[in-house]
Amino acid sequence: MGIPVTPFETYDHALACIERAVASKRKSFCVAINPIKVYNALHEPQLKQLLGQAEINICDGVGVSIASRILHGRGIHRITGCDLFFRLLSLASERQWGVFLLGASPQSNADARAQLLQRYPHLKIVGWQDGYFEDSRSVVEHINASKADLVFVAMGSPKQEYWIWQHRSQIEASFCMGVGGSFDVASGNIKRAPKLFRMTGTEFLFRFALEPRKRLSHQKILLYFLLRTIRMKLFGARESVGWA
Ligand code: UDP
Repeated sequence: MGIPVTPFETYDHALACIERAVASKRKSFCVAINPIKVYNALHEPQLKQLLGQAEINICDGVGVSIASRILHGRGIHRITGCDLFFRLLSLASERQWGVFLLGASPQSNADARAQLLQRYPHLKIVGWQDGYFEDSRSVVEHINASKADLVFVAMGSPKQEYWIWQHRSQIEASFCMGVGGSFDVASGNIKRAPKLFRMTGTEFLFRFALEPRKRLSHQKILLYFLLRTIRMKLFGARESVGWA
């Protein structure tokens, strides 16, 4: 479908790759790819361009892995944005990398910091900012003054990805990643789906059961995504330009 996805074998594989980039001060931008983002990218050329330019695109949604299996005969191991976020924080704490937390409400951001410091007592949170600001330039200055190595942006998709993309060249930190609602999860304000749903890649069903109205449009997109994948498999890419 024209959206690149990095085929990491395991979380350790992804962490090793990111660690090398951070150690060599190479800049990278990591995006979590799920069917909603692929669908949006097929309608928004700018988003498609952004996804094409990100250095790391993890396979966040099970739909992406299934589509890869159907289209290319090879599923891609899932690396969810939320799990990678927590594993990176653990690694950052070991390596003493500076972490900047940008996004969520002021309360959720503060609660997330408190909870994370309990979970990783040696974590170096060098700066933070809630996600409801006006002046992006001063936020970028704040990030650079903090000397952060990792910047996590939790402002929802695709807002967070556009924000990172627009400011990536000015942000000196080695690694930037959009993490959606992960600060709300870290703060305890939002519960993650139970393990069974996470293990089977069906978190979307759990979220749908909790918030059916809000999530209905997402479920429709998942269905379109599956239909498009099957159509591409049967008729090839050229026959499948429009969405069902
Ligand atoms: N958010 C923000 N600034 C905004 C809009 C949203 O910081 O202008 C935060 C919001 O408070 C919440 C997160 O972004 O913490 C959005 O989480 P959601 O689960 O909706 O993101 P998704 O992963 O679904 O994109």
